[in-house]
Amino acid sequence: MKYFGAHVSAAGGPENAPLNARRIGATGFALFTKNQRQWQAPPLGAAQIEAFRRNCEEAGYAPQSILPHDSYLINLGHPDQEGLEKSRAAFVDEMSRCEALGLDRLNFHPGSHLNRIPVDKCLDRIAESINIALDKTHGVTAVIENTAGQGSNLGFEFEHLAHIIDKVEDKSRVGFCIDTCHAFAAGYDLRTAEACDDSFARLDRIVGLKYLRGMHLNDALKVMGSRVDRHAPLGKGTLGVECFRYIARDPRFDGIPLILETPDESLWPEEIALLKRFAEE
Ligand SMILES: [Zn+2]
Ligand SMILES: [Zn+2]
Repeated sequence: MKYFGAHVSAAGGPENAPLNARRIGATGFALFTKNQRQWQAPPLGAAQIEAFRRNCEEAGYAPQSILPHDSYLINLGHPDQEGLEKSRAAFVDEMSRCEALGLDRLNFHPGSHLNRIPVDKCLDRIAESINIALDKTHGVTAVIENTAGQGSNLGFEFEHLAHIIDKVEDKSRVGFCIDTCHAFAAGYDLRTAEACDDSFARLDRIVGLKYLRGMHLNDALKVMGSRVDRHAPLGKGTLGVECFRYIARDPRFDGIPLILETPDESLWPEEIALLKRFAEE
């Protein structure tokens, strides 16, 4: 079973996200459980949690088809103690919100060294941040997303993901998410079936596909290796549609959320329909 969806709006509360997902024909979805541009959010109320669970159940969205995303403000590898503490506290709150909603994973960008600490030290810090959050929460897996490598963001090399996972103590609650646009921007070719075979074989060798807990399906606006994070609609970028046909047809990507973060929301129903057609080929 393939779970295709998009990062839908949770305006008015997370309970609205499954309704928005159903409207576009999605079989999975992503959401922010709070305003992603603010540090603080009021805790989720019991009625809100109940409504979220009910709406998911009625629309047939099981936890394994849902990929919540944390706030972009959080930097789990922050070079300063103060910034690090603030990020760690916010991340525990994000994990707790997922737990309260009955969700089993949280997707996040690993972190940035801000050109102030070495790469290895930043990766160690990120792993320690994950260890702290896993200690304080239950049942939610920390899902590290690969990045395009813009600025000082880490996670653009598969080795970065492997480094972090290696230092996480509870391997049963850590995983990763591959964003196709980010991988391509970081220099991993995914334009043809052969290129996908090769890149996913590398990923499996370096990190291990057994840790894959979700994917972001985005075409790319810039060329391969640009290190620029700009998404394009499926088939309308430099990556091309073949990559998405490959993923839709490959059973290694069954049973996890496959999420569009493409820029034109009006195309989501079409893009999801396309992915479903590919899966049936
Ligand atoms: Zn992404
Ligand atoms: Zn991106």
